[in-house]
Amino acid sequence: MHKKPAYLFPVLLLAILAVVVGCSSVPDSDRQQINFLKPGEEAAMGISEFKKMKGTLKISTNSTYNAQVQKVGQRLSKVMPVPNAEWEFVVFEDPTPNAFALPGGKVGVHTGLFQVTENEAGMAAVMGHEVAHVVARHSGERLSRGALSAGAVAVGTKVINKKTGLNPAIVAAGLGAGATLNHLSHSREQELEADRLGALYMARAGYNPSESVKLWERFAAYRKKSSQADGPPAFLRTHPLDETRIAALQAYLPTALKEYKN
Ligand SMILES: [Zn+2]
Repeated sequence: MHKKPAYLFPVLLLAILAVVVGCSSVPDSDRQQINFLKPGEEAAMGISEFKKMKGTLKISTNSTYNAQVQKVGQRLSKVMPVPNAEWEFVVFEDPTPNAFALPGGKVGVHTGLFQVTENEAGMAAVMGHEVAHVVARHSGERLSRGALSAGAVAVGTKVINKKTGLNPAIVAAGLGAGATLNHLSHSREQELEADRLGALYMARAGYNPSESVKLWERFAAYRKKSSQADGPPAFLRTHPLDETRIAALQAYLPTALKEYKN
């Protein structure tokens, strides 16, 4: 007779609970995800994290940069479904070309990003991509997957016992990773999804989504140039290959263009 391995039961139980407790669908995408976190809890963490960042990082007073980021932010915030949003758009003094968004509608843009975005639509492409990670709740998904995998029955059980999904240590670790901004741990799938959703939302906000392809091409050129200089910056290494990403976005453009009215 075969005897069922002892670990099978908790694993099965976790899988079932994951479906019951933590499965939700990604807005504007035909994908289901595992997510134990409640949107309101995610938002509260993002809002408090952003407050800390504003207290420690240098905020830019460049009026041209700030005006553009506010304008793009206003337009995007009207069309991007971020639960419990308290929208805020801040430009930080940092020469690296980067931007980030946290749950709760908190968006940061580095001054170094303007060298690549070049214009308002380019900025909309990047900010749309970043906020799309929030819309699709990618960090909560990452945390929840992390809790389930690694055979982390103990961890997963703790999470599930609380049902609302909050093990403060795990959440803090995950949010910390998110807050280093550079999507180090976003999977390739999440990146491509953020590209698609970003193009869709920029179209709904009145920006031509074709500009997103141009933006990612400029990013590719920038990467090439800077990797020749001193090796690829760490935050870019986990991104999908630029060619793959640009091709995928090209293929999605007709869908996004349907929502673009100028
Ligand atoms: Zn990303």
